[in-house]
Amino acid sequence: TVGAIGYGAYEIYGKRHPLEQKPFDPKKRTVVVLGSGWGAVSFLKSINTDDYNVMVVSPRNYFLFTPLLPSCTVGTIELRSIMEPIRFITQHKSRNVKFYESECTDIDPESKTISITDVSDIKGSVSNTTVPYDYLVMAIGADNQTFGMAGVREFACFLKEIWDAQKIRTRLMDCVESAGFAKQAPEEVDRLLHMVVVGGGPTGVEYAAELHDFLKDDLEVWYPELADKFRITLVEALPNVLPMFSSQLIQYTESTFKQNKIEVLTKTMVKEVADKEIKVMDANKNLVSIPYGLLVWATGNCPRPLARKLMARIKEAQTSPRGILVDDYMRVAGAPDVYAIGDCTFSKYAPTAQVATQQGLYLASVFENLARMEEGQNKKITPFEYSHQGSLAYIGSDKAIADLPFLNGNVSVGGVATYVFWRSVYISNMFSFRNRFLVVGDWMKSKVFGRDVSR
Ligand code: FAD
Ligand code: MG
Ligand code: MG
Ligand code: MG
Ligand code: MG
Repeated sequence: TVGAIGYGAYEIYGKRHPLEQKPFDPKKRTVVVLGSGWGAVSFLKSINTDDYNVMVVSPRNYFLFTPLLPSCTVGTIELRSIMEPIRFITQHKSRNVKFYESECTDIDPESKTISITDVSDIKGSVSNTTVPYDYLVMAIGADNQTFGMAGVREFACFLKEIWDAQKIRTRLMDCVESAGFAKQAPEEVDRLLHMVVVGGGPTGVEYAAELHDFLKDDLEVWYPELADKFRITLVEALPNVLPMFSSQLIQYTESTFKQNKIEVLTKTMVKEVADKEIKVMDANKNLVSIPYGLLVWATGNCPRPLARKLMARIKEAQTSPRGILVDDYMRVAGAPDVYAIGDCTFSKYAPTAQVATQQGLYLASVFENLARMEEGQNKKITPFEYSHQGSLAYIGSDKAIADLPFLNGNVSVGGVATYVFWRSVYISNMFSFRNRFLVVGDWMKSKVFGRDVSR
């Protein structure tokens, strides 16, 4: 914490006014970064702007600390506490970093230009343009996987962006208040209070865990007449949840969920999504209808339209439908001077913030070496190597699980101590001192006053 406070002082006193930063230098190469998530921000934090002009294009003008997003769906943490404006992040740079709040809609690797569109509802007179680049860094993340199933986009809530968490929180409270409406039929009350989560990966599990805590700690207190009617069901197609964790921790999670009355339906495939129910094929191959009030869809990633468009343009080199193929130096196959990092790539690693961060740091060091080599220095560019720091997940009732590489082996731990560890890891990894301060404040606030049940 002393280090954190020291760093906070740096953030507060070390910041630069944009006018004190150097302007773009036409003699330097321009690096355009697409995205403002984990990959983009870790690249931006360490790219040396003495060597390059840097420009960022992203439809959102902030970084989002995704690991704490599930906590925002129930109000343990407030949304703004896990957002950090991109301009705050780039203020420490020696050269001003240009930011355009817009979506990149096309990449032309031949003319080395990108097309960008203002994402605003209140556009100015120019809302589409093209921008040239010398180097392009794609860190656009991924889309939600729906398997092309009708009804998912229309009726389910995803959990990836700020507005997803907002929508879940609003819909949850809407269900609860409507269930409490005068003369509501008992089967309708049961439906409205049935929260269904599809997908047993970390996002689905952590969301179910947060929802459980909210029901136990707050909703059952404020809505005593509904207390015994709340239900949470988690649907997973595979034989177990959290396949990336050790079997011991999978068992621990499943037994904690059982104690917490979260029903886990494994080997269960969603077949149809309608506005008030889903149809699933259960483990015995029976088609079963599950009525729900709130449906959260967390079944993983698929490539975004922009990634698909680029892959189609250079399809001789891009042979995987699952993501952008890159080499060990994060170079996009078939597109010179285009790099890709994080969830938008097809890689041997899991799509995690941990991977995206390490790739962003790596790429900034490659750019540093390229600049030194141009000055005649003897530098060598080595391939990217991932170093796994472990996997952590919150599973509810103040318990977390962790698989940590340790002395060439692996430790699997679970419980309340792990949860304290989980919190401190996240807090110390949180990007800015300001965010740390806000999140700790939110945690204290919800401990003292309980979570806010307003819609
Ligand atoms: P993102 O962080 O998704 O960033 C993509 C960026 O690109 C965004 O700013 C987006 O607005 C922008 N963008 C999109 N389209 C365009 C376009 N056309 N043009 C320009 N910009 C565009 N990982 C962990 O390691 N640990 C965890 O505990 C963890 N918890 C998670 C919890 C949740 C709820 C979620 C959703 C994810 C979690 N992850 C976790 C995974 C982690 O968030 C992702 O792996 C990580 O965000 C990937 O980084 P990225 O930079 O590739 O993509
Ligand atoms: Mg990114
Ligand atoms: Mg992100
Ligand atoms: Mg805008
Ligand atoms: Mg209502």
